[in-house]
Amino acid sequence: MANTPVQVVWFKRDLRTHDHSPLAKACAAGAVLPLYVIEPGLWGEPDSAQRHWDFIAESLGDLCDDLAGLGLPLCVVEGEVTEVLAHVATTVGPIELHSHQETGNAWTFARDRRVADWCREHRVAWHQARQQGVVRGLDQRRGWVAQWEALVEAPLASPSPASPPDGWKDLPSLPPARWRQRTLGVGRESCPGRQPGGRRAGLATWRSFLAGRGERFHRDIGSPERARNAGSRLSPHLAWGTLSLREVVQDLRQARSERRGQDEWGRALAALESRLHWHCHFIQKLESQPDLEHRTLHPALQGLREDPHPERLAAWCEGRTGVPLVDAGMAALRETGWLNFRMRAMLVSFATFGLGLPWREPALHLARLFVDYEPGIHYSQMQMQAGLTGTNALRVYNPLKQAEERDPQGRFVMRWLPALARLPEAWRQRPWALPAAERAELGFVPGRDYPLPVHDFEAEARRWKRTIHEARQTPEARRDSDVLLERLSSRRGTRRPAPPPSPQLSLFSEPDQETP
Ligand SMILES: Cc1cc2nc3c(=O)[nH]c(=O)nc-3n(C[C@H](O)[C@H](O)[C@H](O)COP(=O)(O)OP(=O)(O)OC[C@H]3O[C@@H](n4cnc5c(N)ncnc54)[C@H](O)[C@@H]3O)c2cc1C
Repeated sequence: MANTPVQVVWFKRDLRTHDHSPLAKACAAGAVLPLYVIEPGLWGEPDSAQRHWDFIAESLGDLCDDLAGLGLPLCVVEGEVTEVLAHVATTVGPIELHSHQETGNAWTFARDRRVADWCREHRVAWHQARQQGVVRGLDQRRGWVAQWEALVEAPLASPSPASPPDGWKDLPSLPPARWRQRTLGVGRESCPGRQPGGRRAGLATWRSFLAGRGERFHRDIGSPERARNAGSRLSPHLAWGTLSLREVVQDLRQARSERRGQDEWGRALAALESRLHWHCHFIQKLESQPDLEHRTLHPALQGLREDPHPERLAAWCEGRTGVPLVDAGMAALRETGWLNFRMRAMLVSFATFGLGLPWREPALHLARLFVDYEPGIHYSQMQMQAGLTGTNALRVYNPLKQAEERDPQGRFVMRWLPALARLPEAWRQRPWALPAAERAELGFVPGRDYPLPVHDFEAEARRWKRTIHEARQTPEARRDSDVLLERLSSRRGTRRPAPPPSPQLSLFSEPDQETP
């Protein structure tokens, strides 16, 4: 293999060796250099957080161990990717590059363009494989479901043992002690109660779900308290790739067939499988319309909410809006980096409808708090919950109604806001309404012991619901809605010509793209 280029495997959001087709392909081709690049530009972006890095660092630990089992080292290098690749090529000789496709934020999109240009200029082949059910360069959704099936049903990719190239030790690889302790600076706090990173932790979480936790999935995922145990809790592992979507779907289908006839398990596993579909369905939206990280999905709704209301924003971010379910959700998120879907949706609904905030700052704040931050799901869901897609039914979650339905005894609220624990059940979700006699008896003063509501959120929400509803009704807005529906929904039929292709096409229509 003297003249075979060195096979560089660039790990991004795929921190595993199991079912890793770029690694498998590289191992079959020659000497292999596994590479993780710490990119200062990426970590300077406003959606990055220490908790993301801490999860990654733990995952890199497991990745090192698993690569060692294949006879390979992991080089962790800090720098701009094209400069790192240039350094690698001068150190170990000609290279080929392997990675998974990434549907990330605008920064990673621009970086991938630079890498593609660099590869073209230096005649380096860049092989990219799919790991999500996302289809690059798709201009409408016909056939999407079949492509998702083909991806998840394909055999798992198993890398075989390989050797690193001569000279790899001359690369400026950081020792684990250096990257484990990396800190990102002020305002990017770590998260004491977060899920641990790494493949071992991911497998343990998944196995415990299949072994028992998951049986009440479909019943309990709406409850902020019970979902912590009943949810699969796979989200950070899927987001950072310590588990592959394909291995999860295949295990799940195996479990479904073994438990046929067990009604509860049948319902639970079917509900989980739909969510694994949604996972890719939402990432596809960002892939097809990358500017939805910055602009509203529906053009008629761009710029509707413009007043930044700094005080309301600060109260929401800091969990002191005076509405217990909202503040408890924010406290739980700060501490653990996770919330169930319903609570996430309610927080966004409250910020954008109840407080009238523009959606972008809340989106960034939540991105920094979610350990499982996945740009494609995140921005698509943000826009949906903020009522900005123009195609979905307008759904506004009132925290008082949610509290009645999802936390009727106030257990979740008491856990995260201990100041409210001494209030009788009836007042835990509305402490501002505590009658005078109870205030005196309990020594509880609304406004002193817990904030008063920062705003009349019910009136504000009614106003925004009306405004958005009206903005969607103009003939032009309706026409735009039809075009969006055609492009972004996974229906099979077609009603009108496809809109122009997204800018992602021009970058990723390279001939050496793979699909498994
Ligand atoms: C405003 C908002 C932002 C969100 N941001 C993210 C994010 O950054 N990363 C993220 O992984 N999820 C996000 N979600 C979706 C969802 O809330 C989380 O995936 C879920 O709570 C994670 O918990 P779990 O792993 O126990 O999920 P489960 O309910 O067990 O679902 C299994 C997997 O399916 C996927 N999934 C579940 N629900 C959805 C959904 N509604 N849309 C798309 N995929 C879904 C996730 O990958 C999840 O891990 C967001 C939801 C909202 C409303």
